[in-house]
Amino acid sequence: MFKDIKDIIDSSKKIAITYHVSPDGDALGSALALLQGIRIYGKEAYVISKDIIGDNLGFLPYSSEITGEITKPVEKTDCVIVVDCGNYERISADLESFKGNIINIDHHLSNDRYGNINFINVKAAATAEIIYEFLLSLNVEINNDIATCIYTALMTDTGSYRYSNTTKVTHYIAGDLIESGLNHEEIHKKVFDNKSYEKLKLIGLVLNKMELVCNSKIALMQVTEEMIEESKVNIKDSSDIISMGNQIKGIEGSVLLKESDIGIKVSLRSKNDLDVRKIAESLGGGGHTKASGALIKDKTIKEAKEIIVRLLEKELI
Ligand code: 5GP
Ligand code: MN
Repeated sequence: MFKDIKDIIDSSKKIAITYHVSPDGDALGSALALLQGIRIYGKEAYVISKDIIGDNLGFLPYSSEITGEITKPVEKTDCVIVVDCGNYERISADLESFKGNIINIDHHLSNDRYGNINFINVKAAATAEIIYEFLLSLNVEINNDIATCIYTALMTDTGSYRYSNTTKVTHYIAGDLIESGLNHEEIHKKVFDNKSYEKLKLIGLVLNKMELVCNSKIALMQVTEEMIEESKVNIKDSSDIISMGNQIKGIEGSVLLKESDIGIKVSLRSKNDLDVRKIAESLGGGGHTKASGALIKDKTIKEAKEIIVRLLEKELI
């Protein structure tokens, strides 16, 4: 209930906001909209983040407050609101010694309910839908900066209002934001048509090496350290690359494996009925039915590929 969240906010002086590691448009948009809304409501608020922001989301209002330096609650913080994060381990903040209230606001089906209050709406296309409704319930006026954050979050989590999670509510909210004067065209350009030449070259390398596996039902892509070195670009967000796999006719889903210092990052996207959350969960990850991810540690990219192909083959029978 929004009332439970409001009661905690009312009884708090200083409120921290955080999200999942490697924050995407929804995590950042939701957090920054909430940050502004809580300040307008009259409370002190700030963002905790171990992560810094990727280039294409640096235009979001107030994102310059996120420097990657505040990694745990500062003194006298009464409550921490975690948005868009299903698992305690994936929170981009160190909350081990925090004794206050944790509020969990999310839309993931895999959510561990780690908060003192858990507001989970799996029907929301993005967490920002919940944040929008919540700010309205606080009578906070949605100004242009808040609208920019909410719209960006809706747009990125729905693949520009394309994925099956998009509902009438998503369009209503986007419509309200546009009606109040939001420049949506500008946001689409800033997020999607703002890539460096080097990034496009990297996409070229990845597409060139793309394979079809599982009876040509799955498009498998890899981003190796060698490719990153060759293209001289460090990608934080590869959601635009993986979505290309599902553009192929007759495909059921796409996988992207990315080499990193901490292991092989796996991203999964389903085009139709394949439940990729199940596959991610069996690897210790999670997400949504049609978009999920996991981290495979202590394996080479080749081994990770074999593991994932085996799991997909079983799931596709
Ligand atoms: P992406 O592939 O864009 O990183 O993530 C797609 C979805 O899966 C997002 O909703 C994200 O929160 C979730 N996800 C990605 N990686 C992990 C992971 O390692 N663990 C869990 N629980 N969820 C993940
Ligand atoms: Mn989300």
